[in-house]
Amino acid sequence: MPEERPLTDAQRRILKEQATERPGSSPLNHEKRSGLYRCAGCGAELFDSGTKYESGSGWPSFYDAKPGAVSIRTDTSHGMARTEAICAGCGGHLGHLFDDGPQPTGQRYCMNGAVLDFEPAEQGKDKA
Ligand SMILES: [Zn+2]
Repeated sequence: MPEERPLTDAQRRILKEQATERPGSSPLNHEKRSGLYRCAGCGAELFDSGTKYESGSGWPSFYDAKPGAVSIRTDTSHGMARTEAICAGCGGHLGHLFDDGPQPTGQRYCMNGAVLDFEPAEQGKDKA
């Protein structure tokens, strides 16, 4: 049995019920340090801080994900056809993917900060 990581109610609602956090509510909106963003549900590495950018949306935004870390599927809830971003590790809902991001990918991973665990890079350690 995989070990269940303890989740807050807010995290559970996002990961399991595709809820969306209030824009501007995540402290990660303002996180500028270099490091790694992991899935709060399973600990999988999802994003590198190098791909984070300020989208002005009120949600932490990235223009690329770690290879194979994020799966996508079409979400037709709320009468819209959107592309849902899902953790490839645990299947939890992370946010949505839009095609209005900056180069080089032109993509915007619009994430719920509540389901991202930020891990600051250790001083003096080489980044891969
Ligand atoms: Zn996960």
